[in-house]
Amino acid sequence: MQKGVILPYFAELPMDFIELISQPELKALIYVFVTILGILFGSFLNVLIYRIPKKEEFVKTSSHCMSCNHKLAWYDNIPLFSWLTLGGKCRYCKAKISIQYPIVEAVNGLLWLAIFLINGVSIQSALICAMTSGLLALSVIDWRTYEIANGFHIYFLVLAFANLALDWNNWLSYLIGFFCVSIPLLAIYLFSGGRAIGGGDVKLMAVCGLFLGWQKVLLALVIGCVVGSIIHIARMKITKTGSLLAMGPYLAIGIVTASLFGQQIISWYLSLFFY
Ligand SMILES: [Zn+2]
Repeated sequence: MQKGVILPYFAELPMDFIELISQPELKALIYVFVTILGILFGSFLNVLIYRIPKKEEFVKTSSHCMSCNHKLAWYDNIPLFSWLTLGGKCRYCKAKISIQYPIVEAVNGLLWLAIFLINGVSIQSALICAMTSGLLALSVIDWRTYEIANGFHIYFLVLAFANLALDWNNWLSYLIGFFCVSIPLLAIYLFSGGRAIGGGDVKLMAVCGLFLGWQKVLLALVIGCVVGSIIHIARMKITKTGSLLAMGPYLAIGIVTASLFGQQIISWYLSLFFY
């Protein structure tokens, strides 16, 4: 079949779709739906956060109480709602359930809503949501264990390729993005023998660079380093703890900020010099 015949039909579809989702009522409905979906996905993130560091299978094993091992019924497992109605305690043994569970669920739901509000209703927003959730799980795990599992890098790589397929015209920017931050970080990693930065961070900035493109990944690094330095110095002053630093959470903040506001921040920054 000829391409020219098929293409116009595909080209018309998105316009109808955009018109349809521009209706205010439908838009509100989409926001509610996205938020609920985000909370549900946040519940899955909790499973990942708990099981990835233990290398447990996170799909097959059914959920159970961490203290009494009692199998949880579906009504014990409703995101946010169950934790709130049970007062943060196991229904069977009354052991305390970490507040981390409802927090991750709520944060993920709010992040998904914010992404759709800021970036609009689009497939790209869905990809940013998927990336942000991955970064949220990664951040909690890195914060606790100082490790980033390779599964995360593969996941982000898949998202980057999906984004690349949507925005193929800018492939060069994405390709440069893969290398422009990761290569200097790799040099630091090799020079310091892995003390200054973790190998997981290097790989993270490579795959997220492929997702963001070179300008935004540079911005992500700058934001990550600035936020990381401020919080880390404050933490060391207040708690007098050691200097071991998990970079993952700060890089994640940089990556999400750059993916949502990168264009505006870069334009603003350039305008300081060229106007
Ligand atoms: Zn229990």
